[in-house]
Parts: sequence; C-alpha cells; structure tokens
Amino acid sequence: MAEIRNCKQCGRIFQYTGVTQICSRCHKKDDEEYQMVKEYVYDHRGATITEISEETGVDEDRILRYIRAGKLEIIGEDSSILIQCERCGKGIRTGRFCDPCIAELRSGLAGTKVEKKKEVSVRNKMFTAERKK
Ligand SMILES: [Zn+2]
Ligand SMILES: [Zn+2]
Repeated sequence: MAEIRNCKQCGRIFQYTGVTQICSRCHKKDDEEYQMVKEYVYDHRGATITEISEETGVDEDRILRYIRAGKLEIIGEDSSILIQCERCGKGIRTGRFCDPCIAELRSGLAGTKVEKKKEVSVRNKMFTAERKK
C-alpha cells in the first residue's frame, strides 16, 4: 500500500515512496533550480551566493545546501570563503570539510588521536588512585 503524505515544500498530497519528503512536482522544480544555479555558477565565475540567489531566484539556503551536499562548487577566482569546514573552520568551496581534514578523516588519524587521549587520562586516574593508597 502506498503511503500518502503531505509534501514538505508545497503541502500537496503525494504518494510517499520512502525516498523523498517532497512531491514529484517540487522534486522536478528542485532539479530545475539546481540546473539553473549550476549553469549560472558556471557562466559567472566568482559570483557570490547572494548574487546567484538574486539572479536565479533560488533561495540562498538551498544554494548552500547544494554546496554542502557537494553538488555544487563555487568557482570564484579568489576562491572566496563561502562556507567553512565543519571540522577546522577553514574556508572551503564545496562539501563539508577541507581537503586536509578529508585526508585526515579518511586515514583515521582523528580517531586515533581521541583514543590516545582517552588512554592517557585513564592511566592518570589509575596512577592517582594508587598513590592515594
Ligand atoms: Zn510539493
Ligand atoms: Zn578542515
């Protein structure tokens, strides 16, 4: 049985397929807007999100979402800081993390660091406990 839901975007009733929270009409609109933004960015290198939003009529929030999802890359000449790496705060142009952070996360370095810290604090605690005796 297909589930009927209200579209999160326009409120229209649609058949929920378990994939998206929006109706096919909004989904299509979303796609079209994405294409529009993509083309605009391609033609206007260095455009800021505000400019893109004003020219295409697409919400800044949505443009940011495209960038965060790695679907869109801002090709500014000055590689203007548009969004920040979620880990170190460095300015990036696409995705959620900067290249060094991605590399670090991939190699699992970040995880190892945390583990080591934990180990040290446990050892310190044990040491203090022994001294108290
Ligand atoms: Zn809709
Ligand atoms: Zn980073």
